[in-house]
Amino acid sequence: MSYPNYWFMSAIKNNLAELRRMIPPRVRIIAVSKTKSVADIQLAYDAGQRDFGENYVQEMLEKVPHLPSDIVWHAIGHLQTNKVKFVAPFIHYIHSVDSEKLLVELEKQAEKNNRIINCLLQFHIATEESKFGFRAHNYQEVLDQISWEGFPHLKIAGVMGMASFVENQKQLESEFNTLLNIFLDLKQRYFSNTESFKEVSMGMSADWPIAVEHGSTMVRIGSSIFGTR
Ligand SMILES: *Cc1c(COP(=O)(O)O)cnc(C)c1O
Repeated sequence: MSYPNYWFMSAIKNNLAELRRMIPPRVRIIAVSKTKSVADIQLAYDAGQRDFGENYVQEMLEKVPHLPSDIVWHAIGHLQTNKVKFVAPFIHYIHSVDSEKLLVELEKQAEKNNRIINCLLQFHIATEESKFGFRAHNYQEVLDQISWEGFPHLKIAGVMGMASFVENQKQLESEFNTLLNIFLDLKQRYFSNTESFKEVSMGMSADWPIAVEHGSTMVRIGSSIFGTR
């Protein structure tokens, strides 16, 4: 038997309302909808949410055509260069840019689609091993090699990072601080005249209050809006 789940419908709306009440308006809430249905995303949209984040290209391609065209789509998961051509026609923000190779491909596909794509540089700030993100200890050497003038169809909009999956407040504070300091350093080194370089994407369901306290401008929140995955 199937029937409308009224409890869940109001849950998404209520969760969003509560987050908007707690999170200062200068911080943009990205609703992370990976694994969630088009119907759930539509409920959040109907509650006024416009920024949505997805991790997987294939999943995004299946959902996007069924949803309103004024949604601002954020790609937040690792992006392979051979998948860029599929998202370039519609994506607004890529939070996971972590190589020059990816920047070059994004520029090529953005130009082909006659679009400007916002890019956030991802940094690895957590203690858990991960292949993704520029390394916090040597990023200057790597980023110094990149000619930032060479991407007219990209807006380098800021930085992104994921903290460790721990409850230790001090550790989380230290990791978010690391990302904020990288942001400030890059702003000064390469982007002092780039007005669009202003975003610090950090904070998820479990740790957003600490991230916001440490300078986050974009929080990526999934389970606290849509329920557990
Ligand atoms: C899944 C995911 C999130 C959201 O996680 P929640 O804990 O559900 O809020 C945020 N950022 C990234 C990169 C993710 O993969």
